Amino acid sequence: MHYYSTRNRSNPVSFATAALTGLAPDGGLFIPEEIPSYPGRVKNSLGTMNFFDIAFETIRPYVHPELPDSVLEDLVHSAYPFAAPLVSVGDRLVLELFHGPTAAFKDFGARFMARAFSYLRRGEDKPLRILVATSGDTGGAVADGFYGVEGISVTVLYPKGRVTPLQEKQIAGLGGNIDALAVEGSFDDCQALVKAAFGDEDLRKRLVLSSANSINVARLIPQAIYYSAAAGKAFAGKIDSDSEATPRAPDGQGASKTFTAYGVKAGNPITFCVPSGNFGNLTAGLYALKMGAPIRGFIAATNINKTVPDYLESGEYHARLSQATISNAMDVGAPSNFERMAAQWTLEQLRNMIRGVHVSDEDTRKTIAAVHDTYAYFLDPHGAVGWRATDILSAGNDPVKGPLAVLATAHPAKFAETVEPLAGPVPAPAAIKNALGRIASARVIPAELSAFRNSL
Ligand SMILES: *Cc1c(COP(=O)(O)O)cnc(C)c1O
Repeated sequence: MHYYSTRNRSNPVSFATAALTGLAPDGGLFIPEEIPSYPGRVKNSLGTMNFFDIAFETIRPYVHPELPDSVLEDLVHSAYPFAAPLVSVGDRLVLELFHGPTAAFKDFGARFMARAFSYLRRGEDKPLRILVATSGDTGGAVADGFYGVEGISVTVLYPKGRVTPLQEKQIAGLGGNIDALAVEGSFDDCQALVKAAFGDEDLRKRLVLSSANSINVARLIPQAIYYSAAAGKAFAGKIDSDSEATPRAPDGQGASKTFTAYGVKAGNPITFCVPSGNFGNLTAGLYALKMGAPIRGFIAATNINKTVPDYLESGEYHARLSQATISNAMDVGAPSNFERMAAQWTLEQLRNMIRGVHVSDEDTRKTIAAVHDTYAYFLDPHGAVGWRATDILSAGNDPVKGPLAVLATAHPAKFAETVEPLAGPVPAPAAIKNALGRIASARVIPAELSAFRNSL
C-alpha cells in the first residue's frame, strides 16, 4: 500500500515512511491511496472469526508487504492480549474499549504502533527516540505501548502538576526505556518544546527522532479492528458477556430493566456512537465501513468543542480554540484528523455516514448518574457524552434504527474524581490498580529548549 499526503497526491510513500515520519513533509497527513475491501470469505465470517484473525485481515492490506504476514500475525497477538467486548447495557449496546493496560482505547493504536516501529527499525544501530507531549491520556498509552520495546526509547513531556496522580504514574512510573519530563509550564509549552526539538540541528545530528501523536497512520489503522469485530458480532446476533473489568454496579438491581430497541438483531447493520476529539477513532470507523464491515453509520458525539457537528450541519468548517470540559480528552477545537476526513470524502458523503451531536457538561454529569441509577452501569465522562448523544437523536424526528453501540473509550475508574460523586465508588480494574501501585519518578525541567536538549 502507498500513502499520499492530504495536500499533495503526487508523492506516494511506503507504509514504513508514512509511519516513521508521521507528518508529510508538506505538513499534510498521510492517507492510504485507496481503502481496501475485505475479501468475501472474511466479510462473510466477521461474526465467527476471533479478534486476532480480524486484526490480521484488517491491517494486512495497509502494511503489506513491509510487514510480512508472519510478522503481522505475531504482532497482533503480542499487541492485543485483551478484548473489546460488546455488552448489553439497558436498551442499547456498549463497546468497551478500556480493557487494555492504560484503561483507554488509545492502547489499541499505541501498542500496534510500538511493535510496528520496532520491526521497521530492525538492524539499525542508532536507537529511535520518540518524543511525545501529552496533556494526560496519550502519554500513558504511548509510554505503556513502547515499554520494553527493543531499539526504541520514549521521552514523554507533561505539564507538571496538571495531570491526575494516576496519569502521572502511568507516564512516569514505568522507568526502563521510558523517560518522563515534568515541564514547568502548560501542555502548549510541552508541545512547543517537542516541535523545537525536531527543528534543532544539533539534536537531529545526535539522535534519530520520531513522534507518536494521533495523526500517525500506524496508530490510526489498528483502530478499525474493533469496529469490524463488533459489527460482525452484532450482525450475527451475538454479544459478549461481562468480564472482570466491566463496570457494573455491584448493588445494581436496575440492570434487569432492559429494552430491546437498540439491542442486536441478526442481519441488521449496527450504528456506532463515537465520543470524539481529534476524530482519529471515527476516521478508523469509516475505514471499517468502507472495507465492508456491516455498519449502518456513525454518530459523532462531542462535548462543547463541536467544530465537526457544526460543520456537518452548516457545511462550513471553522476551527476554534478548545474549551475545557469534564471529558477533557475530547477538548479539541481544531481536530487534526478532520483534514484526513475532508481529503477522502465530500461533505455529502460524510453526511450520509455521520450524524453529529454535541453534549454539555451538565448533561454529561446527569447521564453518568442516570445510567448508574437505571442500569447499574458506570460510564466515564467520554462514554457518557456518547450515551447522551444517542438519547438526543432518539428524541428527535429521525431516531436511530437499532442495533446501536456506544463506544466506551475509557474505564470510569480512570475518571473517578468526576464519576464517584455522581454514581458512588467505582471498582478499579487490575490495570488501574497496577498503575496506582507504581511510584512516579520524573525529572523536572523548565519550559526551555536548552534544558530539554540537555535532558536528551
Ligand atoms: C483520545 C480520547 C478520545 C477522543 O478520541 P479521538 O480519536 O481523538 O477522537 C475520547 N475518549 C478518550 C477517553 C480518549 O482518551
